[in-house]
Amino acid sequence: MLLRFSINWELMVVMGKVKTLCKWGSKDILKHLETLGEWTDEPRYACKKCARVCNSKKGLCKPVALPVKAMSFH
Ligand SMILES: [Zn+2]
Repeated sequence: MLLRFSINWELMVVMGKVKTLCKWGSKDILKHLETLGEWTDEPRYACKKCARVCNSKKGLCKPVALPVKAMSFH
């Protein structure tokens, strides 16, 4: 299920229908809260420029993979 959403988001970002999380302003956040929740669920990447997190590297401007150790806490 997560993978399915992830593919859709990446496609939407590629098609320019959705901005990367890095470009979201407060209006975008409120408008796409559900997407934000899905996008940041179990994040695998962080943005090294603005510290946002996402489970797709397409959602960030400067994605860097989070260490595996950080994911083993839950
Ligand atoms: Zn960023």
